[in-house]
Amino acid sequence: MDDKFKKVVSHAKEYGFIFPSSEIYDGLSAVYDYGQNGVELKNNIKKYWWASLVQMNHNIVGLDSAIFMHPLTWKASGHVDAFNDPLIDNKDSKKRYRADVLIEEYCQKIESKINKEIAKAKKRFGDDFDENQFITTNDRIVAYKEKIESITSRMSKALEEDDLKSLKKLIEDLEIVDPISGSKNWTDVKQFNLMFSTKVGSTAQSSSDLYLRPETAQGIFVNFLNVQKSARMKIPFGIAQIGKAFRNEIIARQFIFRMREFEQMEMQFFVRPGTQQEWYEKWKENRMNWHMSLGLGKENYRFHDHIKLAHYADAACDIEYNFPFGFKELEGIHSRTDYDLSQHEKHSGKKLQYFDSELNKSYIPYVVETSIGLDRMFLAVLSNSLVEEELDNNSSRIVLKIPSVLAPYKAAILPLVKKDGLSEIATDLYNKLKTEFNIIYDEKDAVGRRYRRQDAIGTPLCITIDHQTLENNTVTIRNRDTMEQKRISTDSVSKEIIKEVNLKNWLV
Ligand code: ATP
Repeated sequence: MDDKFKKVVSHAKEYGFIFPSSEIYDGLSAVYDYGQNGVELKNNIKKYWWASLVQMNHNIVGLDSAIFMHPLTWKASGHVDAFNDPLIDNKDSKKRYRADVLIEEYCQKIESKINKEIAKAKKRFGDDFDENQFITTNDRIVAYKEKIESITSRMSKALEEDDLKSLKKLIEDLEIVDPISGSKNWTDVKQFNLMFSTKVGSTAQSSSDLYLRPETAQGIFVNFLNVQKSARMKIPFGIAQIGKAFRNEIIARQFIFRMREFEQMEMQFFVRPGTQQEWYEKWKENRMNWHMSLGLGKENYRFHDHIKLAHYADAACDIEYNFPFGFKELEGIHSRTDYDLSQHEKHSGKKLQYFDSELNKSYIPYVVETSIGLDRMFLAVLSNSLVEEELDNNSSRIVLKIPSVLAPYKAAILPLVKKDGLSEIATDLYNKLKTEFNIIYDEKDAVGRRYRRQDAIGTPLCITIDHQTLENNTVTIRNRDTMEQKRISTDSVSKEIIKEVNLKNWLV
């Protein structure tokens, strides 16, 4: 873990955002709990996503389907047969890896060599440097690129044909070593299904196998007609859902980036066959705009188009975010064709068709899906916001510059001192505001320390009640990011908070 990432993890724990699960028993790998501030931030991310889709689009409605589903759901969706990762063990370190990830990491190393060459050449040639020409003509780079291509195509072929022997052979040919032990002593590659199974029923004989859902999307597919009919939805329309998903990830590292129990925010958009490409492009743009609206930095996002498509998709890409450990998938946008609904039709024997009155015919709609990991979004916000600032007086402060609309608390109410009636005025103000916003009251310690505490949990505004308040009913309002303070009338505090957090100023 690099330094920045370590700081994010320890800040998250120290300030009540994220705790390891069942920590008193030494924790449970890849499972985490959200603390008092974490749950607020997480809920605010959910609200922001929900508002942008369900509240602001008349043709998108919500759903909250159960985690348990009929086991045939997962047969139909392909998860029973194909939701696998190829795993490999190192016999010396006893560590387990995803075979494809080991190979991808090998390619990333070659990629970084290419980038180094480019950076060197840029320095050497200065303004005259033509990057495109350099990449296509420099012998070393051309050779590196060819190597990556040949490795990638061998890997894709092996994965596609489920040829695990060739996958192992590739690891051996590339002389990939265990990153921990440096050993090349590998086991064979095995397929490993990522779904957790459990039993329902009271006795062994009557019980039957169930799965914990590995994605929320299938709950939407099986309810497609229920929603369409009861809400009289006309195509194109969407169904959105936020909920837990479970995957028995082989390598669960990188904090809340890859967990075994996590939350997804998914929206399936049902469209006329033949129009899916157009909608896919629209949703790509729409979702990227949503990310941009939070102001975490345009340079921290990029699209990554899938070259090798899943069998059910006719287009797919990821929105990647620049996490402290590099650009990684944050959200997936997939054009899933009519695959899922057709499969459910086949396995359930029930028609899942939509009658299009304009075309005067029935069809199985095509689906464009947007699927974002809530916990990954949380990590993106948290890691982007954590800043250590040097101040003029040779001191420093740690501040979470969380977008105000997502901040756990919108404002802190702070009486300068407890005496002289200031606590009472502050309590009155707190009581007036608390029905409108999530705010916090703090009267412990010197006001400077209280400011630091609020900075560290990302509270955008601090309202201080002092002796002047007694005289003219004004308070100071301090901005978290600029640390500027101004005096305003007590009666306008609510308006100032609204300016900071109103959705109108964020989601346009
Ligand atoms: P990855 O390639 O990183 O395993 P994926 O392509 O399997 O992810 P999808 O099935 O497309 O992921 O799931 C949609 C979203 O759910 C992802 O973009 C990610 O944000 C989130 N997600 C998936 N797996 C996990 C996990 N184990 N922990 C946290 N979030 C996850």
